[in-house]
Amino acid sequence: MPLLRNIGLLIQSLPECQSELRQLGDAALAWRDGVLVWVGSERELPGEFTSEVSYDASGHMVVPGLIDCHTHLAFGGWRADEFEQRLSGTSYLEIGMAGGGILRTVNQTRAASEEELFLRSMKFLNRMARLGITTVECKSGYGLDLVNELKLLKVYRRLSDEHPVRTVPTLLAAHVVPEDFRSKRSQYVDFICEELIPEVAANNLARFCDAYVEDSAFQLDEARKILICGDDHGMRPKLHADQLTCGRGAELAAELGAVSADHLENISPQGIEALAEAGVVAVALPLASLYLQQKPLCCRRLIDNGVEVAVSTDFNPGSAPSYHLPLAMMLGCIPGGMIPAEVLTSVTISAAKALALEEEIGSLEAGKSADFAVIDSPDPAHWMYHFRENACVQTFVRGEEVWNRDRDESCHET
Ligand SMILES: [Zn+2]
Repeated sequence: MPLLRNIGLLIQSLPECQSELRQLGDAALAWRDGVLVWVGSERELPGEFTSEVSYDASGHMVVPGLIDCHTHLAFGGWRADEFEQRLSGTSYLEIGMAGGGILRTVNQTRAASEEELFLRSMKFLNRMARLGITTVECKSGYGLDLVNELKLLKVYRRLSDEHPVRTVPTLLAAHVVPEDFRSKRSQYVDFICEELIPEVAANNLARFCDAYVEDSAFQLDEARKILICGDDHGMRPKLHADQLTCGRGAELAAELGAVSADHLENISPQGIEALAEAGVVAVALPLASLYLQQKPLCCRRLIDNGVEVAVSTDFNPGSAPSYHLPLAMMLGCIPGGMIPAEVLTSVTISAAKALALEEEIGSLEAGKSADFAVIDSPDPAHWMYHFRENACVQTFVRGEEVWNRDRDESCHET
């Protein structure tokens, strides 16, 4: 039974409260078959564990494996030229209307083979593992037709089979209306509901169904129809809501009992109330508002009004071209207004709830998966305050070491 000893500070994460962390000094962890069997003070480690294989945390802090609960991991190409155009004053919407934006990535993704997308995504996952990330939600949405949406979801299935980092697939066919359906958008909605969702469900290719509610994407009634259809096929709803305008997406998330409502930069007071009442997790994506030079979501306001907040990267080639979750965490403090304890909860147990996986991951307790990261910082406040390229020393997923800084190599490099 493997052990991790000499933990200077163990952060377990408490499911009950966003701002309070259960912390333990001089701690140890033990696991069997990838599942934690013992968590506690090293002094109290039962004798039967002491002769087993052991790892040394060298007095560092250990946290639950970080969970990136909102990414668009597999895509073709990049859009650095649009980044430059935005810096010169062209808006995200103007770029989209001129043939850039999401539809440009759709063309590049359609042109890429499944193998190309798979190999590229493997590399992203390797690098994310180095940052302490152990679970990554991955959305489709750059295919927008049967063949290419299935291609993206098959890439995610292969990643889940072949890469140790846990991946959670989401169908996001309602990302934007594809060019050839612009004048017949209801037919695209019907295609999603009548062809794509049944096919995805029959092959068990996605856990969630997502929709982008925005003037430039899908209207409320279109999103409602798609999300209800997804739910009927066993894929719980998630929403991109109230990002560029207040489109009452948060209220729709509450009405449908969505597992999360994401973005929310322009959420209304009624939306906040609705999320709190329905217990929907709000997913803050501070990298997207930073890159779009948009007023960031005030996470503080949501938490103070009883909404649980998760923080994620939104990794995608347009509005958030970075998978650096620790950077998003720092932005959760400034300008997001959260204290470090809340941010750490937001990328562990709250992010697990945003994926309906809180029984399995997100905190370090006996019975949960042995997913954790060894962090070279004395405590969470110091970690987020002294922002570095990488403070992670070692990452474990299901008890398997997938990254070790001292060897300076991914244990799962391809
Ligand atoms: Zn997104």
